[in-house]
Amino acid sequence: MSERNVTSKFVYDFTEGNKDLKDLLGGKGANLAEMTNLGLPVPPGFTITTEACKVYLDSGAEPSELRDEVSAHLDALEQHMGKRLGQPDDPLLVSVRSGAKFSMPGMMDTVLNIGLSDESVAGLAAQAGDERFAWDSYRRLIQMFGKTVLGVDGELFEEALDEAKRAKGGAATSDLDLGAEDLRALVDDFKAIVAKQAGREFPQDPREQMDLAVRAVFESWNTDRAKLYRRQERIPGDLGTAVNVCSMVFGNLGPDSGTGVAFTRDPASGHQGVYGDYLQNAQGEDVVAGIRNTVPLADLEGLDAASYNQLMQIMETLETHYKDLCDIEFTIERGKLWMLQTRVGKRTAAAAFRIATQLVDQGLIDEAEALQRVNGAQLAQLMFPRFSEDARSERIGWGIAASPGAAVGKAVFDSYTAVKWSRSGEKVILIRRETNPDDLDGMIASEGILTSRGGKTSHAAVVARGMGKTCVCGAEELEVDTKRRRMTAPGGIVVEEGDLVSIDGSTGKVYLGEVPVVPSPVVEYFEGRMHAGADDADELVAAVHRIMAYADRVRRLRVRANADNAEDANRARRFGAQGIGLCRTEHMFLGERRELVERLILADTDTERDEALGALLPLQKADFIELFESMDGLPVTVRLLDPPLHEFLPDITELSVRVALAESRRDANENDLRLLQAVHKLHEQNPMLGLRGVRLGLVIPGLFAMQVRAIAEAAAHRKNAKGDPRPEIMIPLVGTVQELEIVRDEAETVIAEVQAATGTDLKLTLGTMIELPRAALTAGQIAEAAEFFSFGTNDLTQTVWGFSRDDVEASFFTAYLEKGIFGVSPFETIDRDGVGALVRSACEAGRATRPGLKLGVCGEHGGDPESVHFFHEVGLDYVSCSPFRIPVARLEAGRAAALNKAGSDSR
Ligand code: PEP
Ligand code: MG
Repeated sequence: MSERNVTSKFVYDFTEGNKDLKDLLGGKGANLAEMTNLGLPVPPGFTITTEACKVYLDSGAEPSELRDEVSAHLDALEQHMGKRLGQPDDPLLVSVRSGAKFSMPGMMDTVLNIGLSDESVAGLAAQAGDERFAWDSYRRLIQMFGKTVLGVDGELFEEALDEAKRAKGGAATSDLDLGAEDLRALVDDFKAIVAKQAGREFPQDPREQMDLAVRAVFESWNTDRAKLYRRQERIPGDLGTAVNVCSMVFGNLGPDSGTGVAFTRDPASGHQGVYGDYLQNAQGEDVVAGIRNTVPLADLEGLDAASYNQLMQIMETLETHYKDLCDIEFTIERGKLWMLQTRVGKRTAAAAFRIATQLVDQGLIDEAEALQRVNGAQLAQLMFPRFSEDARSERIGWGIAASPGAAVGKAVFDSYTAVKWSRSGEKVILIRRETNPDDLDGMIASEGILTSRGGKTSHAAVVARGMGKTCVCGAEELEVDTKRRRMTAPGGIVVEEGDLVSIDGSTGKVYLGEVPVVPSPVVEYFEGRMHAGADDADELVAAVHRIMAYADRVRRLRVRANADNAEDANRARRFGAQGIGLCRTEHMFLGERRELVERLILADTDTERDEALGALLPLQKADFIELFESMDGLPVTVRLLDPPLHEFLPDITELSVRVALAESRRDANENDLRLLQAVHKLHEQNPMLGLRGVRLGLVIPGLFAMQVRAIAEAAAHRKNAKGDPRPEIMIPLVGTVQELEIVRDEAETVIAEVQAATGTDLKLTLGTMIELPRAALTAGQIAEAAEFFSFGTNDLTQTVWGFSRDDVEASFFTAYLEKGIFGVSPFETIDRDGVGALVRSACEAGRATRPGLKLGVCGEHGGDPESVHFFHEVGLDYVSCSPFRIPVARLEAGRAAALNKAGSDSR
């Protein structure tokens, strides 16, 4: 049901909205309204809702009511401002800006100076007392309108602008050197470009300009780059954008005017202070595009103390009001400060943790809210290694630390090459003078981004931070020549395409060659090698420690590890694991032990088989003793052998060649011949659907019994050593309760034997994996024979979708992602509607049969942030994931639990 049924209008004045109406007014519109209502200086205007955009996108036409509603709001705006849109002697000018619910920097369209025409440009000049300004504004309008509304190639305008500068005799290096006459001539050139390229004249009717611009903004929702960005950021494709029509204020009216961006805290470190960039005598897009170099915001104090002080006060108001880091766009028009935008600002992962704890300390938010201010993806990012400080690589440049991390890769100088090389498995660093939205796919494909121009708020910096990609920008001493595909550093050092470079997004340093990396302090903390409470504790580590403590306090889900050996188990325990949720025993049969498995497979007689099993038993038992010791007092779920047996045998082609060669030399090895026979016999067309899991236990006599005996004897051993072993035996790939019953009976007999022989009471539990659709559909029956379920969502995803998990990601997932069939691989994030629905119903059916049934998940999804929320919702007891993902799972489990209390959206 659309919101249209609830709300009856498509246009809201800024005085009518508020910050909670982001769905309807977009982020920008909602926050402009909020600031207006806070009494801050916002230029008056109105917002056309996302609902209007949706109607346009669905039907290809604006809703019929829109025109009248816009007229009414425009009338009101004109009355308020005392002038009409495009009025010849004193024109009201407006900007038309996109603004979706979630920020999509630079992805959609904006047109400034709407209302200027051949006639009104003179009126503007007279009112402003500045010819140059009026013509500059007009040429900007034609340029932006031509490019975004009429689809003219923007390069053509840039070339004409460069030509105009050249015509000044080469002395002109900046657009500020062009005078009124030059700009008037440029307007003629621009109009000619429009007429030629768009096949129509630049529209002189201001209302037509506005309507066409609104439509262009609607349409920009569905450009390729916007779609790509949404997929990356997992923003739903059907939200649509709002359109903000705002009266223009001018930052390009002379030296007492300007425009800037500000952050209430440093988006890289989280520290409070004066952060931002200011550009005198310019309009907003100049700052974001990094066209001219900005000055630090602190310098504004010297340029215009009154505006600076007012801005500082407003920043304080906004932070206290939003209770978060805000970023701000502002303009100063002849000494008068105007707020053009604010929003809760993007930040680096480290800053997110610091800011969340700082705000708790300031009493602005509580712990539950603090958990919503960070996420597992950010924590994962903080666990990446950093460059070693004492590495002796050659530093060739030093730019702005725009987005942290340590990235090493081959230099590439355009987006196309970045994508091409990364597809063939190369790691690349995208190097550009500055980036623009067309570089997006290259940025996604790269390990990191390096630019020679632009500040912390340039396109490269903002987008890289949003993606969590390492970025160094504004490394000015590096001369980037994209045409010749090379970069020159001071001292004449040349970096050619394909040369290795390393960039440090935390310090801004750029190195030639590959710099060695060291572990992150956050990992050192989890490992117990760094203590959060120590006097010299890293501020970040202290923040992570506190947030993890909040998460652990509120989470309901327990977190276990997928671990098969003592080393992984020990690490998992240090990282906070509350047991092992999956020990894959097949990993214990590799290396030298593979031969014993071969003997088991080749056994022709009971004696041969019993011998092979007899040789494996003590080895298995020793493995389990170690594991139970590492996890003493905590549950350890041991899965009986799961993979198809051919995985333990030599490759069929290799073996065939070896046997054929030996036969040609007439010295065929008897064992090889038997092996080859077995390999042929065991060969399957679809091994993942063949003889594996519980099926092995049912057709290879003694195999599961040996494993159960090893588990039971290991547990008895630990008990006798005064340990507290808590093994859980798990049967894989069960499709029907009968399979489980047979294996269960056999296991119970073995356990009883071991108990009798060792005089111990072992309290082993027996359960199953739910990883086949039939198991999920008959979970009620299966629960009769299982004390626990662990969802094997890897196999369940494979079998529910009919996707071969080993093949599909490489063969066609890229195409599926590009076509938007899914926004993320279902092997990465649980498919809630399909696989998830089966999980949910299996939980309900299982618990209906056996109310105390323990439920967990051990597929890869157990460590995926979004999936953890799903598992919390369906009521699992625990998630199990690889040791390195345990902190992420703990955090997300805490966030999921706290979300119900805080109810906020952290995107
Ligand atoms: C699963 O299928 O989700 C699982 C954990 O088992 P495996 O990945 O070993 O098949
Ligand atoms: Mg499986």
